[in-house]
Amino acid sequence: MFSALSKKLTSIINGLKGRGILTEDAVDSTIREIRISLLEADVALSVVKAFTTNLKEKLVGKKIINTITPEQTIIKAVYDELVDLLGSSEPILYDKKGTNVLVVGLQGTGKTTTAAKLANLLKTKFKKNVLLVSLDTYRPAAIDQLRKIANSNSIDFFADVNLETDSPITIASKAINKRLSYDITIYDTAGRLYLDETMMTEVAKIKEIVSPNEIFLVIDSMMGQDAINTARAFNESLSLSGLILTRVDGDARGGAALSAKFITNCPIKYMCTGEKIGDIEQFHADRVASRILDKGDVLGLIENAMDANMIDDVKDIAIGKNFDLNGMEKYLMQLQKIGGVSGFLKFIPGIGKLKEQLNASGMSDKTVNRQIAIIRSMTKDERRDYKVLNSSRRRRIAAGCAQEVADVNRLIKQFEQVKIMMTKLQNPKAIQSFAGKWGKR
Ligand code: GDP
Repeated sequence: MFSALSKKLTSIINGLKGRGILTEDAVDSTIREIRISLLEADVALSVVKAFTTNLKEKLVGKKIINTITPEQTIIKAVYDELVDLLGSSEPILYDKKGTNVLVVGLQGTGKTTTAAKLANLLKTKFKKNVLLVSLDTYRPAAIDQLRKIANSNSIDFFADVNLETDSPITIASKAINKRLSYDITIYDTAGRLYLDETMMTEVAKIKEIVSPNEIFLVIDSMMGQDAINTARAFNESLSLSGLILTRVDGDARGGAALSAKFITNCPIKYMCTGEKIGDIEQFHADRVASRILDKGDVLGLIENAMDANMIDDVKDIAIGKNFDLNGMEKYLMQLQKIGGVSGFLKFIPGIGKLKEQLNASGMSDKTVNRQIAIIRSMTKDERRDYKVLNSSRRRRIAAGCAQEVADVNRLIKQFEQVKIMMTKLQNPKAIQSFAGKWGKR
């Protein structure tokens, strides 16, 4: 999702590179282009209007701070607006045993699998005792589908159901008695293919019986504007407490995601990124906005919001006069700490391009672990002065860590390159070119 929008916004912003000053004309034309790209991404018109009006307010008359370029000023403003638009990131409301969650939505949006994914997330990550209840007596095999997923993931499932006679309301009335035995009970309500009165009346009755602490609407990101109409209708009749986006892994243009919070004023709480049980994550507006702008955490860098000490640590190790392979090991360990090579790259603009380079080269975070192993198989003297590493020593080191001699040679080369790279840490172009060279090794 968002890849087309991301490409457009990135190219609009890149078009501002090299400008000394942000004139009102430049702001206007940039905002016009942003407006078009949002409309093309299927963002609701009212949302686009609000977005661009706020953006203009933020930018007009804005002084460009010393080191921050017009391009960065625009990125920051667009980023802030995107974060506002996507809403705050709130986890599930849980304060006591017996918490009830209703999952509602249209059929086919991924509602049943989402109920199971949520239960699994709460069970595995938050150590909650969860009960899954299926109220979907209309779709053939829906109850069975949820039972199977629950069983295969060791999640308790409410099985006291008579498929011949029980209505969703009867099942809800029976299941509610179990709630105090669980931290959280998740009710997967019946979906319909389209919005209708009968469905809404039934869900409203279930809401009365269950008194849910949370009512989540599942929205299929691929549905575009239709998803927004659905959200509006559900919200009017049920007062939703949150939204869950599914199929974020698909190639949806992203309009639904960008409009949903604004239109319903409900936070997007989770997003599902695939078919597997673990493919659900808490929705973080800031991370999604960064992804849209293909800026990784560079926005955090601009604001000094990130852990600047981490970068300083890396610089101290690498730039020091006595930089040797001990320093290199420390540097690699820092790299690991911030999430390996991919974590490090998050700090640098234009990650999209870098990712392509790295994917093409087949470089992975495993490389870092391998390099640490090589250094650890060296003696103290060798680490202090790599020039003593003749071919027999290199063979011994390789054998000591189950690597090839070529790997040891490569590490030595990189050691020399890192020295140069780290002095240019703040120059993204230098790092891009370094990544390109590293990738080609
Ligand atoms: P329901 O009718 O709304 O209950 O929909 P289901 O939960 O049965 O899901 C319908 C299909 O969508 C299933 O094949 C799911 O595996 C698939 N699905 C659900 N969520 C996602 C998602 O986030 N990404 C992808 N790729 N597929 C999903």
